[in-house]
Amino acid sequence: MQHEWLPKPGLALLMGVGLALVAVIVLLDYLTGYEISFGLFYVVPVAMVAWLAPRRTPGVAIAMAGAVGWYVADVSSGRHFSLPVIPYWNAGTRLGFFLIVALLLAALRRALEREHSLARTDFMSGALNSRAFTERAEQEIARAARHGHPLTVAYLDIDDFKRINDHYGHRAGDQVIAFVVGVIREELRGSDILARLGGDEFALMLPETGPEGARAALPKLLDALAARTRREGWPVSFSAGVLSFVEPPGSVDEMIGMTDRLMYAAKRGGKNRAEFGTHPLSGSHPGEAVSRSLLAS
Ligand code: GH3
Ligand code: MG
Repeated sequence: MQHEWLPKPGLALLMGVGLALVAVIVLLDYLTGYEISFGLFYVVPVAMVAWLAPRRTPGVAIAMAGAVGWYVADVSSGRHFSLPVIPYWNAGTRLGFFLIVALLLAALRRALEREHSLARTDFMSGALNSRAFTERAEQEIARAARHGHPLTVAYLDIDDFKRINDHYGHRAGDQVIAFVVGVIREELRGSDILARLGGDEFALMLPETGPEGARAALPKLLDALAARTRREGWPVSFSAGVLSFVEPPGSVDEMIGMTDRLMYAAKRGGKNRAEFGTHPLSGSHPGEAVSRSLLAS
């Protein structure tokens, strides 16, 4: 997947800076005469654009601009060539060199992006892994603290998942996990964060969502999960702990620990249910720590 590192105005600016650099180098190359080589300097804008651009084309374009610019500086600085074809030959070899630099750097950048993305993703389900979740959650906690906004975290565990493995096989179990992630993704907002923390356990973070929002969003999600898995013929249910932080937690571990305890309260309460809570407990939210059966009639 192509990652958009720069928004469109950023790309236009990058191209502008790249072309301006080429122009400055051409001018200096021309002014200093053909005895002094400027080859290395031409590589700078090519490498810069190839590395920072979201696609290969801008790097290729600057490589061509660099080769043409170098040709112009060469022929206009009064250099004499024994054959008229030689400046074209030189321009061609330089273009080849710049293109290799541009394409190699673009490929390296893409490989690093892919590596970065894989290191943050749970391979089986495509959700974030726990490391990436911790990073994103830390950012959201800091943001919530800065703006005084609430956030909600949900910890979801599939009930009796071992039975799925036992009855249908491990591969079917894997499919259920991937399916669950797909459904949650469809139901979530773009700003929400979903991670598989391991096994059949998932963490959801809903930024800017307080107790009331959580009590609206999570039952809807859990109902959708119950309905969609039932439609697929998977006999699964879910237990969830849903904790709304009106004041941000001290750390991600603390946040997960508290929400996990709520999830276990839901398990102890008979599974197939969600346990809601608010932190800190103020008593001002009706239905504090209520349980909700998730069994659709
Ligand atoms: P509970 O209702 O208490 O949650 O019990 P459970 O059977 O769901 O078991 P638990 O949540 O304690 O453990 C999760 C099980 O999920 C353990 C393991 O057999 C299975 N599991 C863990 N990771 C994977 C996986 O990647 N694929 C599959 N198919 N199964 C997994
Ligand atoms: Mg389970």
